[in-house]
Amino acid sequence: MSKFWSPIVSELTPYVPGEQPKITNLIKLNTNENPFGPSPKALAAMQAEINDNLRLYPDPSGDKLKHAVATRYGLTPAQVFVGNGSDEVLAHAFHALLKHEQPLLVADITYSFYPTYCSLYQVPHTLIPLDANMGINIDDYDQPGGAIIIANPNAPTGTPLPLSQIETLLQRHPEQVVLVDEAYIDFGGESAVTLIDRYPNLLVVHTLSKSRSLAGLRIGYAMGHVDLIEGLERVKNSFNSYPLDRIALAGAVAAIEDEAWFQHTCQSVIANRETLVASMTALGFAVLPSAANFIFARHPEHDAATLAQALRERAILVRHFKKPRIDQYLRISIGTAEECAALVCALQELVPQAA
Ligand SMILES: *Cc1c(COP(=O)(O)O)cnc(C)c1O
Repeated sequence: MSKFWSPIVSELTPYVPGEQPKITNLIKLNTNENPFGPSPKALAAMQAEINDNLRLYPDPSGDKLKHAVATRYGLTPAQVFVGNGSDEVLAHAFHALLKHEQPLLVADITYSFYPTYCSLYQVPHTLIPLDANMGINIDDYDQPGGAIIIANPNAPTGTPLPLSQIETLLQRHPEQVVLVDEAYIDFGGESAVTLIDRYPNLLVVHTLSKSRSLAGLRIGYAMGHVDLIEGLERVKNSFNSYPLDRIALAGAVAAIEDEAWFQHTCQSVIANRETLVASMTALGFAVLPSAANFIFARHPEHDAATLAQALRERAILVRHFKKPRIDQYLRISIGTAEECAALVCALQELVPQAA
């Protein structure tokens, strides 16, 4: 607290990111990073960009990246917005599109940055509880609202919502923006991008942090009707004209264009996930169905916080949320096959099974 703060600052509840510890030989399965690394073509493109041109400002609108995204998803560049990480894209969306007199409808258990942005931008909101299976029931969204935000697959549960359900939601709420945060869609979900030309109220948000393994570069983008994009551009151009630097733009374009690397690494994550789910189920864990690069699991006989601490002592980090309804779950990011095997080995000691 300081008397120098603007009044709103003491009201904020800032987001707390997963730990980035400086321990060596750590198996880091706590922040949903991709274990396979970025496209080698993206790395080469970034290296080529390190030259005297860095004295010049980057393209303020990131046109080459908008073009690459538009080509990849069958859109026009005017249907694409780019930003410094999808967290920034989401922030601009809260500011530009989700703040209305009626409350924003948001799940009680979802990406915890959403309530944080609500407090920053003073967006009135209603929390909609997940159903008994920890899934989103779109019928629960049939209530007065100014806009809707959904993470698909949801976080931290990993459960996907079928495209038909997203479409029903869009049809039932034609007067409200429906923002679908698809941070994890490439690991097995069905993207709503194909609906953009038919639903002017749909905004789909993607990130290069997960499926394109570039969390360190900070790139995100939104896709939707040109009017939604224009609203985002107006806020962005009132905030920071140059959110993406030259190196990031070059790397992002090359990453989007390297379809082969993208497909191969996503398939590897999915394969490792299926193996890990099978091993953990055999150890007695209940694992929610996941279409993400992480799983959400609990053990009926072992306390989640205790397990997380015991794993930590074995230099394996997973994420535990001390929150109602989910405090018996662990969120485990999918690592390499070796990392997943080390996790299973540690769990075999911690939750021994009767032979
Ligand atoms: C990781 C994540 C993001 C943020 O991605 P960045 O592009 O790294 O800011 C957004 N939404 C969800 C649901 C996420 O899990």
